[in-house]
Amino acid sequence: MGEVDIGFVEECERWRLQSRFFPSKVGGEPAWLDLKNVPGAEDVQCGTCGDPCVFLCQVYAPYFANDATFHRTIFVFVCKKSECCKDNDGGNLKVLREQLGRKNEFYPFDAPEEREDWRPDLTVDKWTKTCHVCGLSAPSKCAKCRKVSYCCRSHQVIDWKTGHKEMCNDPSRKPEDSPHKFLFPELELITESENSEDSEDEGDEMEKEKREMEKYKLMVKTGKAGTLQSEKDIDGDLMNMVDDEDEVFTEFRSRVDKHPDQVLRYDRGGSPLYISADHQPDHIPKCEECGGDRQFEFQIMPQLLNYLGCLDVMKGLDWGVLTIFTCKNSCIPKSGYCSEFVWKQDIVGQKKNLPKTNT
Ligand SMILES: [Zn+2]
Ligand SMILES: [Zn+2]
Ligand SMILES: [Zn+2]
Ligand SMILES: [Zn+2]
Repeated sequence: MGEVDIGFVEECERWRLQSRFFPSKVGGEPAWLDLKNVPGAEDVQCGTCGDPCVFLCQVYAPYFANDATFHRTIFVFVCKKSECCKDNDGGNLKVLREQLGRKNEFYPFDAPEEREDWRPDLTVDKWTKTCHVCGLSAPSKCAKCRKVSYCCRSHQVIDWKTGHKEMCNDPSRKPEDSPHKFLFPELELITESENSEDSEDEGDEMEKEKREMEKYKLMVKTGKAGTLQSEKDIDGDLMNMVDDEDEVFTEFRSRVDKHPDQVLRYDRGGSPLYISADHQPDHIPKCEECGGDRQFEFQIMPQLLNYLGCLDVMKGLDWGVLTIFTCKNSCIPKSGYCSEFVWKQDIVGQKKNLPKTNT
């Protein structure tokens, strides 16, 4: 079994999460790699409601076997609407892959210097207009003030209701630079080896406290908060949510328990850590760009939901695991980016008739 890298989220100064530093991150706007060929609303359209999905996270994962993948980032998007979130159905998710050679028209050949004032000009604004709400390519402007651009009508409406109305009528005000309130909270995504010493370093107390917090959040999610339950009961409830014989879930739990706050598992070419024996994909579609095979690259864990701001999670945004499969050859997308495959797996308790996915 290969080494698995696991990902955690951390607070971080905003400048470090900009395109010029090739970040892995959660929330805020996407830090595009290719600053010119920016995906638009139609590239991340929710399969249910048709609105653009919102940026969830990105993983910077260069592939050194080939110069064309010297820089390589995978972006994940999700629709925020709870009604679009269905058990074992990835229709509310979109994944895009972008890559660049070491020599490219956007960034210097040598690695960036890690300081705030280093090349602040390396931004997407220099090349194209992006949506004031979500950071996708923005073909239209507010017709009245012409100061802000949008990817679609629906984001213009959201912005109007959440502050642009006031700004638009006041010529002295400039659009805010901070991430739009509509987006998920912005955090850095850091990875380390699953078996590294460092990750075992934390004191027992802290570890215990974190676990209690996880359990509490789970209780909130499952509607059990507010009732006094012993730890054993909660574990019992969790176990009852799946078949007694689901060894896959038992394995999932024991792996996750080692690092309870992991939000990501990265194992390019390896196997996903599924949450249940039910509803695993029996076939991964070929790469839409080159027709070649796809392979597992990484998965997003349910713990990430804890960092997305309570409201959306309470409203019903949910997943067990999101497993992401990408082109084995990491082929060069003609338009600068291409779609990859995501499989959403949930725990649906005793439900036997699982809905089919539309991916
Ligand atoms: Zn939707
Ligand atoms: Zn937008
Ligand atoms: Zn305006
Ligand atoms: Zn391909």
